[in-house]
Amino acid sequence: MNKLIDMHCHLGDKRILDNLDTEITSANNVGISKFISNALCDEEFKLINSELINKFHDSILWTAGVHPYYEKSKESDLDKIIQLCEEKQVIGIGEIGLDGRNNNEEWQNRILLQQLDIARNFELPVIFHTVKKYYELHKILKNNFPNVRGFLHAFNASQDVFETFSHYDLGFSLNAKPPQDKVIRAIIKHGNFFFETDAPYMKPPELNDDFNHLKNLKWIVGQISKKTKTDLNVLLQRQLYNFNELFEIN
Ligand SMILES: [Zn+2]
Repeated sequence: MNKLIDMHCHLGDKRILDNLDTEITSANNVGISKFISNALCDEEFKLINSELINKFHDSILWTAGVHPYYEKSKESDLDKIIQLCEEKQVIGIGEIGLDGRNNNEEWQNRILLQQLDIARNFELPVIFHTVKKYYELHKILKNNFPNVRGFLHAFNASQDVFETFSHYDLGFSLNAKPPQDKVIRAIIKHGNFFFETDAPYMKPPELNDDFNHLKNLKWIVGQISKKTKTDLNVLLQRQLYNFNELFEIN
């Protein structure tokens, strides 16, 4: 059995953090061995090197970013993100991007460009968060960062958006709220895909949980396997290959 990797979660969220031992142990018990957690504000940056987290240092990896929508994310955190990159505490920049639910386009564009610049300087992959703004994001990448590497987290857009981004060195990360079946099939065929919980967010509507748990990744990949009629192990093996390529792990 291949190891499952959760490509995107929020261990700094109180719902997970207060039960970290239980969350990690029950995820380990169903075969999930690695977690990429996002730090999006000062209190979460501080967690990266905390005693609580160091207990699990073999299985937890971190990214850091100023999120376009999360109210705790601040522009002044950019310096701290640079510092985390310098200290090699993070393996990527994110989640960052554009979010159409907020009407602060100018700020979002400026923060995004600055962080894409940081990612390029440190040669780190980018984890994108995009709500309703895929074409605007594409324009920014095409004009400024055509060689960007990383993945679009929580991808659930149209076939046309998928095709637009499939020409870039970007993966598509699926969670409990994936796009239409035909788009999922196109992504799996394309090959550059990942799986994530986004826990504690993005609770699978089919499960009767109070919030999304880390262990639900197994259920998520199982659903994709059923929908695409692709063997679970084939999916996991490919994700592992994509993970190693993205983070240049040999
Ligand atoms: Zn997230």
